[in-house]
Amino acid sequence: MTRRELYRLKKRLKAHLKRAGVVLALLLAVVLMICGCLYIFEHIGRNDKKIEADQIAGNDETNEGSELNNEEPAPSDQPLDTDGQLLQTYNYQYSKPDASGLHICLDAGHGGNDGGTQSGDVIEKDVNFAITKKVEALLKEAGATVSLVRKADEYIDLADRTYISNQSGASFLLSLHCNYYEGDTSINGLEIYYHRNSETSKQYAEKMTDLLRAANAMNIRDAVKQNMQVLRNSAIPAVMVEMGFLSNPEECANLNDPLYQEYLARLLVESLVATLKPATGA
Ligand SMILES: [Zn+2]
Repeated sequence: MTRRELYRLKKRLKAHLKRAGVVLALLLAVVLMICGCLYIFEHIGRNDKKIEADQIAGNDETNEGSELNNEEPAPSDQPLDTDGQLLQTYNYQYSKPDASGLHICLDAGHGGNDGGTQSGDVIEKDVNFAITKKVEALLKEAGATVSLVRKADEYIDLADRTYISNQSGASFLLSLHCNYYEGDTSINGLEIYYHRNSETSKQYAEKMTDLLRAANAMNIRDAVKQNMQVLRNSAIPAVMVEMGFLSNPEECANLNDPLYQEYLARLLVESLVATLKPATGA
């Protein structure tokens, strides 16, 4: 190959390389353009889809709207527990007392074919028993030992009631009843009876009366001396709580209401434990 031929070959090669470079640059430009277009189209498509989804969900344009829709129901929509209901209905908060070391005998008045007093469908023996069971549960929860004179809807005569209580090993007897006043439906309130033979019972009745009155819950009448057989024959300090008048329509409805029964049971337990186990104030 001559020099001249070599020179021509080099020149032709250079020209080819130049053309190839231009073609490559063009190809690169086209590829970049396509990629750019694809990116832009995809981005616009995504926005469209998001807007569609928001419209289906009924969301606002702002993010705050969608966040609100995902929130838990407000607390007021939740059903209230007993504590919440008592707080809402009676503005009352139970403070569980320490009843450890106490042994209390509970006497739910009447039972069986002895219904006690009655107003419409509300029979005293049922109210007495319902509240007694609530008091029992609360006292046990507070650490006390509890004995029951009557464990079901059964008749137990008065002599047997004190016999059961005296034999139970309890150191205090709480008898629960409902009152009735013929001829005046406006008479209302809770009152506590004690027997004149027991000075301790009198002190307990008066202390419980004071504590219940301080709770500002319902009308609390003065403690009364009464010659009731259950109190008279009790070998241990004993009081009878007449929890309200079935002859009073409002009190009768309350005494038949499970929430009021729970409210009253808690008040009785608080005042009873504070009476039998006064704080030493150490
Ligand atoms: Zn009674």
